Amino acid sequence: MYRTHTCGELRIADIDKTVTLSGWVQRVRNLGGMTFVDLRDRYGISQLVINNEADDKLSQDVRNLGREYVVQVTGKVAERSSKNNKIPTGDIEVMATDLKVLNTSDLPPFTIEDDTDGGEELRMKYRYLDLRRNPARKALELRHKMALEVRNYMDGEGFMEVETPVLMKSTPEGARDFVVPSRMNPGQFYALPQSPQVFKQLLMVAGYDRYFQIVKCFRDEDLRADRQPEFTQIDCEMSFVDQEDILNTFEGMTKHLFKSLRGVEMEGDFPRMPYADAMKYYGSDKPDIRFDMRFVDLTAAASGKGFKVFDDAGYIGAICAKGCATYSRKELDQLTDFVKRPQVGAQGLVYVKYNEDGSFKTSVDKFFSAGDFKAWVDRCGAKPGDLLLILAGSEKRTLTALCELRLEMGTRLGLRNKNKFAPLWVVDFPLLEWDDETARYYAMHHPFTSPKEEDFELLDSEPGNVRANAYDLVINGVEIGGGSIRIHNDELQQKMFKILGFTEEEAENQFGFLMNAFKYGAPPHGGVAFGFDRWVSLFAGLDSIREVIAFPKNNAGRDVMNDAPSAISDAQLNELRLELRKEAAKKAKEE
Ligand code: ASP
Repeated sequence: MYRTHTCGELRIADIDKTVTLSGWVQRVRNLGGMTFVDLRDRYGISQLVINNEADDKLSQDVRNLGREYVVQVTGKVAERSSKNNKIPTGDIEVMATDLKVLNTSDLPPFTIEDDTDGGEELRMKYRYLDLRRNPARKALELRHKMALEVRNYMDGEGFMEVETPVLMKSTPEGARDFVVPSRMNPGQFYALPQSPQVFKQLLMVAGYDRYFQIVKCFRDEDLRADRQPEFTQIDCEMSFVDQEDILNTFEGMTKHLFKSLRGVEMEGDFPRMPYADAMKYYGSDKPDIRFDMRFVDLTAAASGKGFKVFDDAGYIGAICAKGCATYSRKELDQLTDFVKRPQVGAQGLVYVKYNEDGSFKTSVDKFFSAGDFKAWVDRCGAKPGDLLLILAGSEKRTLTALCELRLEMGTRLGLRNKNKFAPLWVVDFPLLEWDDETARYYAMHHPFTSPKEEDFELLDSEPGNVRANAYDLVINGVEIGGGSIRIHNDELQQKMFKILGFTEEEAENQFGFLMNAFKYGAPPHGGVAFGFDRWVSLFAGLDSIREVIAFPKNNAGRDVMNDAPSAISDAQLNELRLELRKEAAKKAKEE
């Protein structure tokens, strides 16, 4: 037996017990006649003490210990004279009498402490060392607990977890597939699931009317802080339900998770907002509603007065920053620089300070009268002391830029508290999205999403105006999940494929099996999937989902620890009967 207790377990009640601990050496300190060692494992840190005079050999051995050596120590538990109330074991120490080095360690490339000196790339290269740190361990513990809570809750609601294949046929979630060549079927490829969408719908046809799965999904997309090529979803599907049933069920799950994992009681029903309003008032389909600051459309009120920027604009929008009329020149310049950044994309920023005395100070005095400004501030519900920030330009770009500005102001004004949670269902998404480049419609969600019944008649005449039975769960401006009521009738599904530009043959080729299944009594059904990693990072208060994944990939999709992806041998290529194109072969050699 390597240990009687863990390094996080001993308390005052254990005084005088002889114990054996095993763990990693965090620190060795030599103070006068005593040597202290902090011994760490997953459960905590225990202090070991060696009286240098009493045991010369032991104290020598201890002083020779390097950081991260693995040791086994036996000794008696004693009460500390100076207690450390920052750690649960801070009342005691172990008077070591025996020490065995179980393994040595090279000097770690960064300090294994809460505030480490290691940058992200280095930490990820040595992720197994990074995972010894408290913040990393806590994130993974939270992830584990969340998975348990999901499973318990879903089981309690009659859902059944069913595993679906990882090697499958391409699914249409709108991203690129990762593909896997088949050795047994030369020249043919599996696709890794972008989600188990098709399988969960087939499970509904099979009668498993409440399905869920905590499942890996794979999408070959360009990466951002909240995206990974492989990520985990809480994937769900139900039969004999309408949108209302789904929203209610998963509102229940959301409330349960908030309560059990964060101790947050979410009262009342989650607000719902049509997609059109989200875009109009927040310039985003995932508004952060922890704070209000809605957009106010000033297009009619502010154009036609000779200010060219406004007169040429398709849209003029304002936000009202409460109490910010006192902003200095410098602060306003900073905001102007912010909106002009390429990622935000505005041409410039117009401000109107509504001073406490009722006067105005603005960047466009030349073109407008005090009466104009009064009309604007009234429209915006601004009070003396407030500041209007106005952007103008083409509608789409301006809405997007104003969204960024609103979030920036929210941050500056301290309105985006990480411990406040504002859930929102965004509903009534458009069914289709037009793409100018390819001159065709794409499914906004995916091709199995059902149109709203009242919009059926627009399918032929104005497909762009058809709304879908689709919904997203947004929390604090983060899209946590999304889903839809599905088409369960093969005729409508075929029609949808046609609108999406699939020939009959292509549709048959890709989705024939689903169409076929729909001929055998497909029940009305719908579902939703939640981004598990994102949700854990929201609970953990972390901005990057990489921190809540044990072994994540970097922004270039690489695992910097084991250096994947990597070239494969000629023998493997031969076996798969694959040949690399010249440029790929060259590139692979260079890597
Ligand atoms: N499969 C969808 C997705 O991954 C979710 C759903 O419609 O249930 O986004």
